[in-house]
Amino acid sequence: MHSGKLGTFVPMGDIIRLLPESVANQIAAGEVVQRPASAVKELLENAVDAGATEIKLIIKDAGKTLIQVVDNGCGMSERDARMCFERHATSKIKSANDLLAVRTLGFRGEALASIASIAQVELKSRRTEEEIGTSIQVHGSEFSSQTAASCSNGTTVTVKNLFFNVPARRNFLKSNTLELKYIMEEFYRVALVHPDISFRMYNQDRILIQLSPSNLKQRLVALLGSSYNQRLIPVHQESQLVNLSGFIGKPEFAKKKRGEQYFFANGRFIKNPYLNHAVENAFQELIPKEAYPAYFIYLELDPSSIDVNIHPTKTEINFQDAKSIYAILNTAIKQSIGRHHLTPALNFETEKSFDLPPLPDDHPVRPPAISYNPDYNPFEKQTKPQLEINYKTHGGERGAHWQKLFDPLKEIHPGQVEIPESTESIIPVLQIGNRYLVTHLRNGIVVIDQQAAHERILYEEFLQQEEKKDGSAQKLLLPQTVQVSHDDAEMVRDISDLLLQAGFEISGFGKNTFVVHTVPTGVESTEIQPLIEGILESYKNETDGFRKKEEHTLARTMALKLAIKRGKQLNQHEASSLIRQLMNCAVPDLSPDSKPTMFLLSFEELAKKFKHST
Ligand code: ADP
Ligand code: MG
Repeated sequence: MHSGKLGTFVPMGDIIRLLPESVANQIAAGEVVQRPASAVKELLENAVDAGATEIKLIIKDAGKTLIQVVDNGCGMSERDARMCFERHATSKIKSANDLLAVRTLGFRGEALASIASIAQVELKSRRTEEEIGTSIQVHGSEFSSQTAASCSNGTTVTVKNLFFNVPARRNFLKSNTLELKYIMEEFYRVALVHPDISFRMYNQDRILIQLSPSNLKQRLVALLGSSYNQRLIPVHQESQLVNLSGFIGKPEFAKKKRGEQYFFANGRFIKNPYLNHAVENAFQELIPKEAYPAYFIYLELDPSSIDVNIHPTKTEINFQDAKSIYAILNTAIKQSIGRHHLTPALNFETEKSFDLPPLPDDHPVRPPAISYNPDYNPFEKQTKPQLEINYKTHGGERGAHWQKLFDPLKEIHPGQVEIPESTESIIPVLQIGNRYLVTHLRNGIVVIDQQAAHERILYEEFLQQEEKKDGSAQKLLLPQTVQVSHDDAEMVRDISDLLLQAGFEISGFGKNTFVVHTVPTGVESTEIQPLIEGILESYKNETDGFRKKEEHTLARTMALKLAIKRGKQLNQHEASSLIRQLMNCAVPDLSPDSKPTMFLLSFEELAKKFKHST
């Protein structure tokens, strides 16, 4: 006997032995049940597989102390009620061949055995045709009792104290808020495939979600909020290989986070980056780069053409003919978008609409170089209205610096327009492609991204409002009811103090509605819903950092939501005042996301391009 280099103990003789069944189950459970949500998924799927038309999910402490699923499905015989806790015990397949034709959600026969190995489980079940049912208790794989019981038809599985015997797992669990979110996500995934089944979900004895049997669109709207009624476009495509159906979100409602993206293959939620690409590619050009379209796509195909077996939790699957499915899906989505006339016409006409005030006939067009007057000092003529703009208290200096670079109108078209003293002069601006503003500075030209610029302006305005903490809210004449999804409603409740700071006074929380009484100054009533959704999104994206830099995040979110977008045509007056406001910002050259709002092309640079000296 000797110790090896790595300190391994090498005994003599046969050493391999079979693990006790309970240990094997616990190891398997590590794969199948990572967190309460995984148990919820398995139990809900079993209820669906059992043909239930009503399913009830009851949760306590985010599933850490209680998960209960009540169904009115086929129920189990006395023997099956015991058998179902054995590993690889399943009624769903008999042989390897059956694997090619699986239509049920489960088939591995592992879930109940796994769950029972790491929790205290009670199962009550009665088959419709029998009068008396069975009640079984299993604690950490140990059967502790089995009795006849009178119960309603169907099955109730009660899972208590998950991971009671695996402290490592228990300690690894996240906060209740997060674990509950995972549970709801699993609930959504099942409820979205079975709009015909009635679902109820309770959390801490409070009903959280109630879904009546309906069609798919109604189910989507019931889960996501009534605003989705207007946001969804149907998708439908039949082919030899695959039948596609479902809905996509209109491009203008694309979100900053990949939240609402669902594929289902033969009734099973799946993840597939390749097919996701097929969808996102169809939206290309229609949505900003970092936005993600919503989709709920249902694929029906021959079970033998997919391999659901590659991962124990079964969300990743392989398709035999993925390339063709990609093409069919991509085309179907493009067609759907097209049918709903959502593709903006590529209109080169607008490129020419410079919106410049027409030059008087007798006025010769001057080449740009002539307007350049290096000695010009805008502060000489203090009566000029554009110089009377109040600089923001914070960082006014930088704004002033930018202002100095600016050439007033008279320099480019002297004598052309008489500016009344009381009105601001209009800066001549070219709007290009409905997104960029071009104007001249003292030392060259500047190209401004209108959206980024407006984001900066609003951002600084909101920051100032928040600094003052008063007078930033405006009362709505009619309080407005806002609807969001159930889990979002929970979140609104969580951050209502922050929202109040920003100017949203909110009350009357319902399950998924609340009433807005005041809004930040300048916010239109039509903007309330998207604004609150935006704030929730950033909240979700920045769970950890949100509260620390809450004000900045809120101001940023609101600015991004409310800013005029690329693609919006601005008239001369709007473009001019946008530039003015931008130049008055503390940090005019960066958007709140630290992207450039503008770039300069100096006369030197221009001269270099034209290969002559200044
Ligand atoms: P699988 O679903 O992969 O077959 P499970 O461990 O989840 O494995 O369940 C084992 C068996 O128990 C199922 O095949 C089914 O016959 C039975 N079963 C489980 N849950 C229910 C239920 N809610 N109603 C009726 N039968 C059920
Ligand atoms: Mg199962």
